[in-house]
Amino acid sequence: MRQSQLLMPTLREVPSEAEAASHQLMLRAGLIRQLAAGIYTYLPLGRRVLRKLEQIVREEMDHAGAQEVLMPALQPAELWQQSGRYEDYGPELVRLRDRHDREFTLGPTHEEVITALVRGEVSSYRQLPLTLYQIQTKFRDEKRPRYGLLRGREFLMKDAYSFDEDWEGLHRSYTSMYEAYNRIFTRCGLYFRPVEADAGSIGGEGGTHEFMALADIGEDTIAVCTDCSYAANLEKAEYRIDKRVDVISIQQQELKRHHTPDIKKIDQLSEWFGLGSNAFMKTLIYVADGKPVAVIVRGDHEVNEIKLKNVLAAKALELADQETTECVTGAPLGFAGPIGLSMPILADYALLAMKEGIAGANEQDYHVAHVIPSVHLGNAQAGDYRNAVEGDGCPRCEQGRLTFHRGIEVGHVFKLGTKYSEALNAKFLNASGVEQPLIMGCYGIGVSRLLSAVLEQHSDSNGIIWPKSIAPYHVHIVPVSSKDQVQMDLALQLAASLGEAGLEVLLDDRDERPGVKFKDSDLIGIPLRIVVGKHAAEGIVEVKPRNELESLKLNLEEAIAFAKK
Ligand code: ATP
Ligand code: MG
Repeated sequence: MRQSQLLMPTLREVPSEAEAASHQLMLRAGLIRQLAAGIYTYLPLGRRVLRKLEQIVREEMDHAGAQEVLMPALQPAELWQQSGRYEDYGPELVRLRDRHDREFTLGPTHEEVITALVRGEVSSYRQLPLTLYQIQTKFRDEKRPRYGLLRGREFLMKDAYSFDEDWEGLHRSYTSMYEAYNRIFTRCGLYFRPVEADAGSIGGEGGTHEFMALADIGEDTIAVCTDCSYAANLEKAEYRIDKRVDVISIQQQELKRHHTPDIKKIDQLSEWFGLGSNAFMKTLIYVADGKPVAVIVRGDHEVNEIKLKNVLAAKALELADQETTECVTGAPLGFAGPIGLSMPILADYALLAMKEGIAGANEQDYHVAHVIPSVHLGNAQAGDYRNAVEGDGCPRCEQGRLTFHRGIEVGHVFKLGTKYSEALNAKFLNASGVEQPLIMGCYGIGVSRLLSAVLEQHSDSNGIIWPKSIAPYHVHIVPVSSKDQVQMDLALQLAASLGEAGLEVLLDDRDERPGVKFKDSDLIGIPLRIVVGKHAAEGIVEVKPRNELESLKLNLEEAIAFAKK
């Protein structure tokens, strides 16, 4: 491809609207342009990379035995009503009406459509197992579209769905997708970790994993063991629980009320009492499906609402507002404590290991000291209700400790079970002739997000450094002066030979200053650059891999051999 003909509008300045490094690079290197918030056009270079990502995904899906289909983005609302998600999905679901005033959605995902399809086409265990996938545009009206392709409102996803007779079958399908995902992300040159994730009320044992690209911009925190392979999303991360109860001294002290005017937050209390935040018992009042519940964690810990929601098997869970808190504790927010509360109390395990602590007094401007877990929290339900913290013991091995990293969720594998097959009545006859719901799994990869994730990991101050497998072109040939006929002839000869060898070549034939050409070349990050300059007459060119500092002077044959290698 001749660069003079290519729509590749590079920018010198860092665009002010882009915060994320990947977003800046994509705009600067002319890969994408924004049409509206979270909605982008892929320019030729961006489209080429996206195609390569798609191709890797496609090859690995096919290799894993999945079959490609293409489903409509436009979906009748009735299907979503049948699954119950028309309400549950909330404002992220794009809804619209046709000319007959019938309701439709633009698919944010395709469980409903695929289940309806398979319901009509699969009726016997002989047709199972079956895994179908597509690579298709998804629509989600995200609250905060940002970071370019990382969180778009229109984005490209690979979504796959498996159908099995039983849970063992699902486990095999799931494992095969899990392994395919490992191969896909490895081939894309991504640094990533599969992590255990929260499966909510469905999912079963080992029910869901997220594939996280490691990057500081990532919105998720992942906990990784220093010693073993344990890794989990913080939402779900467990830790070695210390159930040891400190022996309480014999001279038990009486509860003591302390006047703490307007002192509500843990850090304020810490300062007021001159004690570390781990000396306090933090009581939070939640409303779970309409009923109040108190949760107590150590002052330096955070409540994990997902764990809480799972323990309570609650559909809706939210922190109680000022009014509700006053009504059920008798005190404004900031003064709740375990003593005298008439509602279920959940006490985190870490409290049991405390000798005593300071808690709210359920009275405005008062706290109580010498709250002793075994004495005052006797009725509480002990459990794991908090986020893991760095340094916690690993829940799987003896020695390891948890360290935290930031991650971008690029993929997700999930055991759905019968949630959709039951709601949409997708059944099959098993070998004994008994009708059963299909057992399903779903598997997503954010293909466009993956592009951003790769860029978060592969660049330097001069621009992109593409992994070879997904680079828009393999070789960038840069004649120093396009007006110099000797240089151009050699460059064209080189381009032809490399092309014949199956390499994709971009030739910078623009009549630009060398400085401009080299800057653009670094910015667009093609893995190998071949400069044709003053030694062209002797047939000598300069070859430089993008990720190395030095270039090599080689003759034409050597340069071609080097490029092929
Ligand atoms: P997130 O928590 O980031 O919103 P999700 O849990 O909603 O993701 P899934 O429903 O599992 O995502 O979708 C499958 C994959 O699609 C995700 O793993 C992610 O890579 C990608 N994805 C989801 N939402 C977006 C988006 N708004 N823009 C780009 N990619 C997305
Ligand atoms: Mg989402």
